[in-house]
Amino acid sequence: MKKGRSAPVVTEIAPIETHAVRSIEIRGARTHNLKNVDLDVPRGKLTVITGVSGSGKSSLAFDTLFAEGQRQYIESLSSFARQFLDQMERPDVDFIRGLQPALCIDQQQGVLSPRSTVGTVTEIYDYLRLLMARIATPACHLCGQPIDRQPPSQIIDTICELANGVKLTLLAPIVIGRKGGHADAFERISKAGLLRVRVDGELYEIESLPTLAIRKEHTISAIVDRVVIREDSRERIEQAVAVALRLSNGLVESSACAADETAPSERTFSTRFACIACGVSLLEMEPRTFSFNSPYGACPACEGFGVVDGLPEKKCAACDGQRLRKESLAIRLDGFSIAQITKMPLDKAIRWFEDLRLTDRQAKIGQLIVREISQRLTFLREVGLHYLTLDRPAETLSGGELQRVRLATSIGTGLIGVCYVLDEPSVGLHPRDTERLIVSLRALQQRGNTVVVVEHDEEVMRAADLLVDIGPGAGRLGGEVVASGAPEHFLSDSDSLTARYLQRTVPMPVSQKRTVGAIHPSLILSGITINNLDNVRVEFPLRRFVGIVGVSGSGKSTLVHDSLAVAVRKSLSGEALPSHIRKVDGCDGIDKLIEIDQSPIGRSPRSIPATYCGFWDEIRAVFSKTKDAKQRGFSAARFSFNAGAGRCEACGGQGRQKLEMSFLADVFVPCPQCCGRRFNRSTLAVQFKGKSIADCLDMSILEAAEFFDAIPKLRVPLQCLVQVGLGYIALGQPSNTFSGGEAQRIKLAGELAKPGTGKTLYLLDEPTTGLHMDDVVRLIGVLQDLVEKGNTVIVVEHHMELIRCCDWVIDVGPGGGGDGGTILGVGPPEVIAKNRKSPTGLALAK
Ligand code: ADP
Ligand code: ADP
Ligand code: ZN
Repeated sequence: MKKGRSAPVVTEIAPIETHAVRSIEIRGARTHNLKNVDLDVPRGKLTVITGVSGSGKSSLAFDTLFAEGQRQYIESLSSFARQFLDQMERPDVDFIRGLQPALCIDQQQGVLSPRSTVGTVTEIYDYLRLLMARIATPACHLCGQPIDRQPPSQIIDTICELANGVKLTLLAPIVIGRKGGHADAFERISKAGLLRVRVDGELYEIESLPTLAIRKEHTISAIVDRVVIREDSRERIEQAVAVALRLSNGLVESSACAADETAPSERTFSTRFACIACGVSLLEMEPRTFSFNSPYGACPACEGFGVVDGLPEKKCAACDGQRLRKESLAIRLDGFSIAQITKMPLDKAIRWFEDLRLTDRQAKIGQLIVREISQRLTFLREVGLHYLTLDRPAETLSGGELQRVRLATSIGTGLIGVCYVLDEPSVGLHPRDTERLIVSLRALQQRGNTVVVVEHDEEVMRAADLLVDIGPGAGRLGGEVVASGAPEHFLSDSDSLTARYLQRTVPMPVSQKRTVGAIHPSLILSGITINNLDNVRVEFPLRRFVGIVGVSGSGKSTLVHDSLAVAVRKSLSGEALPSHIRKVDGCDGIDKLIEIDQSPIGRSPRSIPATYCGFWDEIRAVFSKTKDAKQRGFSAARFSFNAGAGRCEACGGQGRQKLEMSFLADVFVPCPQCCGRRFNRSTLAVQFKGKSIADCLDMSILEAAEFFDAIPKLRVPLQCLVQVGLGYIALGQPSNTFSGGEAQRIKLAGELAKPGTGKTLYLLDEPTTGLHMDDVVRLIGVLQDLVEKGNTVIVVEHHMELIRCCDWVIDVGPGGGGDGGTILGVGPPEVIAKNRKSPTGLALAK
């Protein structure tokens, strides 16, 4: 849930080696709200940092530890890079000693290209291309026949075997299906001293050749041996093969007949890649032959995108969405093209590689590559992503999935002595899979890395070597290390809010209106067939708090976003349903749909929560009504940082300037003219209750709520932001710096501030992301309030404490991908908990 970090997604830091250092010593950290924090992070261990949202976890882990690592890296670079160093903000910290090269694995999309897939991001695709190029069997893309490309010695060996006891004829194909009289071809044959030819299937003596029709296509082969070889005479065959190869540029045809003259068996050998039957040359098998990012491999029709016009639903017809040239797709490994391999869910791919049968030669060349691929696939399975496919576009992954893909990749690359900083890797993960996530974090650590994780998940916390609780509150009220130690010791510390939750001494809120029996009215969807759902029927109770649960990949999002939301939207607007939903009933119980997902609220740094939620204009109006403003003749327009005469000219009201660094992600530095205040001097001189407009942008939401308490138009939206646990964010924080979870809660607050219809359907996707248990309790209260007012709230969630507070639960599963997509059970949480066959049932019962 990182914000305000301009760091690249993954940055490698050159080793700054220190001898036998046991820990990374942070002294006097004061970044953002941190209050002179001292902390020793043990090297080579797993440290988990927790605390309520806004307490300062990210400020410590990312903006201090990782940022300083990045700065020290630039310091170690060329003088060109170092010129930016003075301008880069140095984390406010006395010193950090023993820092290792640092890598950050977060949930941001970063620099993904639309061409990135799970395969390319994990580098598995690079290994796969190499494997195909080395050991796959080429085949003609027109007729599908395998092509033997063999060295001459091997051709001779095979022919000698064939010739054993049979009548054998060797031919050199010279013209393959080309129009013309071909006089030159006959001349070459005769110059080589050969006496007989085969023209379009008929045998002729070279003296008595027919005249060929010029407008027709002909196929001409020279019969290389003067007499038909009748016995295994290696020397004769060697000579004949050499002549045939020379004459035909690398092709030899053999036609062998058993002594009893049954139908001859024919074979073509080649030292090059060509299909004799179709008369085409094929691509050399190189890794780039299989790259959809290279003109050698990419389908020319779609340039390797697999879709045309950039529309996911418009599959490229030329490659059938497989992104590669037909020539590349014809090449097979154990009967499978590279596209077929990347289409398999990862667990199936793992089994496929296990069962892969290789010849001795293939094994010798390919075994190490296969091992590398299998290992990396296994790491992906271990982080709970067994249901993904290698060809899945990285852009369609959720933030949590992408982060776990990166985690598995990091384990695969096998770096050691690195300090990894991770942001809530459990996001989107079912409790069933958390254990495996911990195993993966351990794997990273046990290779000799320091692993620092910002996390709210209880199991991950309990698994830490060192657990650090930042708090006690958010913003000004946080910023201290409240408790730290091994989890066992930590728990005995009753001062820590986290410890109290872990010991279950704080009660969870329970809905007042839980009705276990009838669930009418309800909304019923039937005949849903999309992704892994096959003709599914689901009943969603209305005016209730409903949880959708299931392991990741089981089909929750498909059910809620691709089906329920679509159906409701269509029927509210009176449009026809899309073909993947047969029927929807009960929509009359709803008059409004609000879908709140984790997509960003604005890609532009010019958007801030106040503009998004629509109360920024009101703040500007407040300033324009001050005496100061009236004296100067400033209207509300003067107080805009996006346009007009009030903003700082130098930075155009952005408050910062971008430094483009060709070798790294861009770095932002505060604007030297306005020092990050966004406005010019005369505008800043205007004050309301002793604060300038820029002072207001610097306030946290909590501070602003107090400051503007007397103005109802501001009090309501600010209070809503506080309610959803966002009191700690700054009013002027750019929207593009919010995490998915924060963006979602900003949207929720925006909706809460509007007058409700009382018949609204709210859909939320993992609203607990980034929230400490204390924040979750507050969020549950907000959602229950909505339901009290007659609305319906449906959440996709993995947070079992929240699920226990739901009125009704819909359990999707049992597994991910093809193993999921069925409704395992519906009912109140107690009922779901009794289902021993459901992963969620087991997790709830715990
Ligand atoms: P956590 O990670 O625990 O949720 P953060 O470290 O993100 O908390 O935030 C701690 C405090 O620092 C909050 O009051 C927050 O508003 C403030 N803060 C976070 N990022 C920035 C920033 N870029 N500029 C100024 N203040 C910030
Ligand atoms: P959940 O929300 O339970 O994690 P999803 O509904 O996202 O599960 O996924 C269900 C299945 O559909 C998975 O096998 C997933 O890989 C597949 N799937 C989801 N979205 C897409 C997509 N955009 N393209 C291809 N397959 C998808
Ligand atoms: Zn400026």
